[in-house]
Amino acid sequence: MHPPTGNERLPGRPVSGFVPGSAAAAGPPPFAAGAPLMRPGAAAPFAPPTQQPGVPPPLAGASPAAPFGAAPPAAMGGYRGPPPPQGPFGTGPPPQGPFATASPPQGPFATASPPQGPFAKAPPPQGPFAAAPPSQGPFAAGPPSQGPFAAGPPSQGPFATAPPPFRHPPSLGQPQSPTGSGMPAPTYVRPPPVQSQPPPVQGYYPGVPSSNPQFPMSRPAYQPPMQTMPPPPMGPPSSYSNQPAYPTSGPPMGTLQSLVEDFQSLSVSSAPGSLDPGVDVKGLPRPLDGDEEPAKVFEAYPLNCHPRYFRLTTHTIPASQSLVSRWHLPLGAVVHPLAESPDGEEVPVVNFGSAGVIRCRRCRTYINPYATFADAGRKWRCNLCTLLNDVPGEYFCALDASGRRYDTDQRPELSKGTVEFVAPTEYMVRPPMPPSYFFLIDVSVSAVRSGLLEVVAKTIKSCLDDLLGFPRTQIGFLTFDSTLHFHNFKSSLSQPQMMVVADLDDVFLPLPDDLLVNLVDSRHVVESFLDSLPNMFHDNVNVESALGPALKAAFMVMGQIGGKLLVFQSTLPSLGIGRLRLRGDDVRAYGTDKEHILRVPEDPFYKQMAAEFTKNQIAVDIFSFSDKYCDIASLGSLAKYTGGQVYHYPSFQATTHGEKLKHELSRDLTRETAWESVMRIRCGKGVRFTTYHGHFMLRSTDLLALPAVDSDKAFAMQLSLEETLMTTQAVYFQVALLYTSSSGERRIRVHTAAAPVVTDLSEMYRQADTGAIVSLLARIAVENSLSDKLDSVRQQLQLKLVRSLKEYRNLYVVQHRIGGRLIYPESLRYLPLYILAICKSLALRGGYADVSLDERCAAGFSMMILPARRLLNFIYPSLYRLDEVLTMEPGRIDGSLKRLPLTLQCLDTAGLYLLDDGFTFLVWLGRMLPPELVNDILGVSLANFPDLSKIQLRECNNYHSRNFMTVLRTLREKDFSCYQLPRVVRQGEQPREGFLLLSNLVEDQMAGTSSYMDWILQIHRQTQSS
Ligand SMILES: [Zn+2]
Repeated sequence: MHPPTGNERLPGRPVSGFVPGSAAAAGPPPFAAGAPLMRPGAAAPFAPPTQQPGVPPPLAGASPAAPFGAAPPAAMGGYRGPPPPQGPFGTGPPPQGPFATASPPQGPFATASPPQGPFAKAPPPQGPFAAAPPSQGPFAAGPPSQGPFAAGPPSQGPFATAPPPFRHPPSLGQPQSPTGSGMPAPTYVRPPPVQSQPPPVQGYYPGVPSSNPQFPMSRPAYQPPMQTMPPPPMGPPSSYSNQPAYPTSGPPMGTLQSLVEDFQSLSVSSAPGSLDPGVDVKGLPRPLDGDEEPAKVFEAYPLNCHPRYFRLTTHTIPASQSLVSRWHLPLGAVVHPLAESPDGEEVPVVNFGSAGVIRCRRCRTYINPYATFADAGRKWRCNLCTLLNDVPGEYFCALDASGRRYDTDQRPELSKGTVEFVAPTEYMVRPPMPPSYFFLIDVSVSAVRSGLLEVVAKTIKSCLDDLLGFPRTQIGFLTFDSTLHFHNFKSSLSQPQMMVVADLDDVFLPLPDDLLVNLVDSRHVVESFLDSLPNMFHDNVNVESALGPALKAAFMVMGQIGGKLLVFQSTLPSLGIGRLRLRGDDVRAYGTDKEHILRVPEDPFYKQMAAEFTKNQIAVDIFSFSDKYCDIASLGSLAKYTGGQVYHYPSFQATTHGEKLKHELSRDLTRETAWESVMRIRCGKGVRFTTYHGHFMLRSTDLLALPAVDSDKAFAMQLSLEETLMTTQAVYFQVALLYTSSSGERRIRVHTAAAPVVTDLSEMYRQADTGAIVSLLARIAVENSLSDKLDSVRQQLQLKLVRSLKEYRNLYVVQHRIGGRLIYPESLRYLPLYILAICKSLALRGGYADVSLDERCAAGFSMMILPARRLLNFIYPSLYRLDEVLTMEPGRIDGSLKRLPLTLQCLDTAGLYLLDDGFTFLVWLGRMLPPELVNDILGVSLANFPDLSKIQLRECNNYHSRNFMTVLRTLREKDFSCYQLPRVVRQGEQPREGFLLLSNLVEDQMAGTSSYMDWILQIHRQTQSS
């Protein structure tokens, strides 16, 4: 607890006064003057009358003792979904009819296969192996002839003394047909060199989803052990960049390559855990291209929504429980409902007008491209539950000879996987709310001294024209330290008026209206406030922070409208309800059963408050700036249960972090946002979503309440099979997000997708999606860390990986006499590394000493919402060498940025490197880097021993610096959702180099963690043990 030094006022003593604008505020005690403000009901100058219209009685202080008791009237004002059975999101009765028998002759896939489609193409003339490109398989370091293992090592087993653990890629194709389709065996064709043409792009689905694929599928056999093999030399560090094992420009994952089960061999050469010098570390697979969106899924199912919106962990549905239990990875999906459109086109908006939104009357599915028509167009069959529905007269259209509506191509809802419906009034329980922003700003001494207030005020002011919802936008501010400062923005005022409430135990509003105002009407008052905010508290030396009471006040102000609440917190909340205590330094808790308690809120206040906020359509974003422990675990729960977000700027200083805050706050205020929304994901008979992971409040078993959701938020969920045997050919999914748009229209965004039901485990592996698996596993791991030790969480991850690889191995071990080799499916070649990276992520790595508790919790909150691409880059950051790039023509820079493996071996002491994890740009200066280059970029000479932690990277008037800033801009422009804070560290500069760089080199061994190679060896051993 902070000592009450510098607090000029007695806490708890109700004092208030008008502070007309900045001039008066600049005086010493800005809040002390004026008559005491009385409780509402008393005859005070600014107290509301007893029955204030617009202020819910319970919130106005009538029932101070029960803030979270019965829901106040305001709570009823929020959007409530209509009653389940009848409502738009109601769950219908269970489907009655058998799914399979109802399939119309013109199945949904009939129209989906254009002549050029994935099912029509003939296999390439060379046969299945001809095109298998980085063909040498995941562990190959290059073309066979050049690889260090060209001569092929002898290997008698995993623990053979011969060094070569890496086997040459499989090149013998043994005709196999995992699905028993009995297709002719492909003849053996030697894999071509890597330089060969990529294979023609093909879908890798067996045509119409079916358990009886119509195309040859083959598995390679392993290559027989070679005889002799000299240990390959470890390449010099720079060889990584020259000869990446996985060329970033590598061929796309073609049909055949993905069909090929790359049997890779990896033998342990000597003692367990030791890295034999003969092991080719360079050949290990690395995800240097980042996330691979399963684009092939889209090609195979062109009517599906783009996988960016919805992707499954394996794009198949297992036909039986036994298959599910053998698929040891999570079965589930990642949903990013408001993702930026992949092709840049706007999502088509459909208004059904008088026909009403066309939905299945039983399961409430929205009409979609997989619906089929019957009875000359008078009926439509629901693809989720097979019910035959009437087509409203207004929506009728005749069918062509194939049973397809003539207007299909003109109707987005029948031809596109992603559409948006205009929702009529029955989808509202109140008029659509105006977008509203309420700012809760801690103005205690640390906020003042760090320069935070100025950055926040300037940024908000610069965004006023771009806030969502013009001209209906509402805005308001509340500042606080040991007291609450309300600000009156009445449009008739020339300057805002401040009223101070010091009674923290019984918070009340000093004014019924004008605390949250229309931005257009009160623009000048708001601007005047923002101009004066930094000075208003310039001399404030108050160290206390009454966040809890401030939250309650904000709730009273916003309760009836809802909107976004942005909290700027600079210290540990110390006064009133919700005050928190220092608990982050309890080293004794680590490694015990109580360890996780540090990562969950201690005081139920925050979760209860979050529940109230959600009920009233308020989303909370937390911006935290403390230089000391501020209990992100507790504060973050406000964001977690309201669909919000946590931003963490430890030890914020405007000079250093100002640009990052400015960008992230602007993004937060202006990105596409859906207000007062709910999301539900329906799926076909036989499967069910069981758990959801992300930031939301679960309103019923499957309805996610999202007071606000935006284009930067993704969700993950787990799926289970409800039937012992699935008899359908495909399962359909439909994501529906009902929301209010910023323009005030009620909309339903609908994403529809289909996935084939399979009876073959190997097909599940083949269609596995690493990005989706990692997204789901990481979220589950972060959640588990809230109830378990970090070490146990990491072990669970490892166990999942081992079990799945073991299962995969069992599929093939007998027939192929695999012996001591590690094998894994091509689709999951990066999974071992990603799982290692999750274990080493900021949220889960090490123990007490490795990451500060607040940073760990903040990273955990981020990992819960990041879309797949950003999440993968966060746990396995991008590393680039820049010193050569900086001498190039600016136009060539983008194409010259090549990612490197995350290991110290890649760092040349004469090089300049950049590590980008989406949050930070870490610039690493090698010891032997030419001083001129350093001087050019930093603008100062290293010879003067500058404090690199305070260096500001700005464009200087020289070629290197301009190019360097071009690199940063280029990388930032690839993704506007993030803004990386540049930090500079010099080789050998400890301890900064350790926690800034070395801890991010996830392939290297760190204290208590394995290197990538050791990890592979461990996994390998465990997959072989029984
Ligand atoms: Zn239905």
